[in-house]
Amino acid sequence: MLIDAHAHINFNAFKNDAKNVIDYSLNNKTWMILVGSEYKTSLRGLNYASKYKQGVYSAIGLHPIHLEDIIVKDENSGYNFKTRAEKFNYNEYKKLAQAEKVVAIGEIGLDYYHIDQGKNVINTKKKQQEIFSQQLVLAKDIKLPVIIHCREAHDDMLMILKKFREKYHNIIQANKPWGVMHCFSGDESLAKEYFSLGLIVSFTGLITFSSQWDNLINKMPLEKLLIETDCPYMTPEPHRGKRNEPIFVKYVAEKIAGIKNLDIAQIAEITTKNAKELFKI
Ligand SMILES: [Zn+2]
Repeated sequence: MLIDAHAHINFNAFKNDAKNVIDYSLNNKTWMILVGSEYKTSLRGLNYASKYKQGVYSAIGLHPIHLEDIIVKDENSGYNFKTRAEKFNYNEYKKLAQAEKVVAIGEIGLDYYHIDQGKNVINTKKKQQEIFSQQLVLAKDIKLPVIIHCREAHDDMLMILKKFREKYHNIIQANKPWGVMHCFSGDESLAKEYFSLGLIVSFTGLITFSSQWDNLINKMPLEKLLIETDCPYMTPEPHRGKRNEPIFVKYVAEKIAGIKNLDIAQIAEITTKNAKELFKI
């Protein structure tokens, strides 16, 4: 069994066949966390997850790129979309988070890569930091782990996480992970910084078409690792250019097994255990 720790079946790319894709994944022993990026997709993910007794869970949150109107392009899947600015409403999200199937707050974080350089960059960064911090507090208030997105903003990300951890160190259990850096693409020293803050990291199909992370993966402790698709994006080899989906998480597991010279069954077992522990499923 595998757990895709980050799937967006709740996005429009799946609007005509979401049920089929989910059922096919479950029939092929692949569970998933449906991750929201704004209120609408958070609610939709929760609605899908609520239809299943087990195997499908949801994360709710407001992604930094949904604070502005932006056009986003993904070359690996061919999917482009336009975001509409949303204002973060703590109470609305808190209400949603009470549902049984919500297992995390995410995806939340910082994304400086997509900031429109023609607009007020400093204000946009500040707004992202503020909304991210508010959602960290929400996660703390309702005792859920976080799924963090970070693109070209690791210095500010580390600063915010350190402050948050200092302030609430009595609430965060020292030896238990309280969140995951999703679609991790940093180096060894960055991974260690996140580990030292009590977070773990998650790899996507990116590692199947670039050997940049082979060395890092080889050294990485297995208990700090999740696997994910980030579907419909980040489609792994050998399906690049097509829509990604949860069952393709097996290619991520296979790649890690190859690098670590382990059996895919061992990678499946440990990453499933890690995901079950983090999300309490
Ligand atoms: Zn995502």
